[in-house]
Amino acid sequence: MRRKGWRRSLLWLAALLLAGLLLLAYTFVPRRIDVAAYQAGATDFHPASVNPASLPDVQLSIIKCGKMISRQSFVYRGGSWNQTYESGMAAALIRHPRATFLFDTGFGTNVDEDFQHIPFLMRKLTVYDKEQPAIAQLAAGGVGAEQINMILLSHSHWDHVSGWEDFPATEGWMMREEADYSRALPDSELMKRMLDRVHLRELDLNGPAYENFDRSLDLFGDGSIVLVPLPGHTPGSMGMFVSLRSGKRFFFIGDLTWCREGVDLPAERPWLSRRLVDKDPEQVRRSIVRVHELAKRYPDLVIVPAHDRRVHEQIAAFPQVER
Ligand SMILES: [Zn+2]
Repeated sequence: MRRKGWRRSLLWLAALLLAGLLLLAYTFVPRRIDVAAYQAGATDFHPASVNPASLPDVQLSIIKCGKMISRQSFVYRGGSWNQTYESGMAAALIRHPRATFLFDTGFGTNVDEDFQHIPFLMRKLTVYDKEQPAIAQLAAGGVGAEQINMILLSHSHWDHVSGWEDFPATEGWMMREEADYSRALPDSELMKRMLDRVHLRELDLNGPAYENFDRSLDLFGDGSIVLVPLPGHTPGSMGMFVSLRSGKRFFFIGDLTWCREGVDLPAERPWLSRRLVDKDPEQVRRSIVRVHELAKRYPDLVIVPAHDRRVHEQIAAFPQVER
């Protein structure tokens, strides 16, 4: 009698486990975002009326500082289980006649220490490889730390702010919403620790509508660098448009998606990745659909997800420049 009861309990447990596994497997099944459901405002365009010839001489370079390897299936819904995905950890260097600055920092000199202060589960699931930090590559290319006038941060996650500490005299600019969020982070010691060592400046993007974003900040008032809000991954995630004299145009979207497929399909991260990294998945979907519509309207616009190494390869690597 007792043995029968045990067997029944075991069978139930096995059935529950199987159901759980099937449910988890389902969350990785390829699925596109329902564009119509998240399209409100995404097709209201206020096109940038910039004549490239009238732009200042702005130079853009990518600085690759490291990488992470994972299954493609963890990167976007529809990614393959058989293929690995190489995430790039990079900074972008922009030289504008009025300022030289970085957008995100990639892995810094203290990345190993920074890594010890990220959430436990994230740490257990992450394997990374270091390359040269931005500060060392800049120095080798003749750009001293004192020549970097500011650092713009797409958001406050460790893999984007790690190199900030290498420029202790340089202000890091974040959207106000992101600054509030990073000060209040309950699950990460990193920003709390870092904010004692670096200078944070809060940005309000309260300029006019730009493309299909209802507010923006034209950093130098000349249309070359325009910042827009991309909330969802974190509350104050920020994107950056770079328009060059050659007519080339780039849009850095931070971690809104980890790869181009996320924007093109469009597709979000699978449930497990969203649970680990996204603050507001509904808002992520709205922001992705906005960028998806933008990409459709401007096929020549280079959309740069912060970790898509294939896109990084298309941008001149420091000390080479796009202009
Ligand atoms: Zn990231």
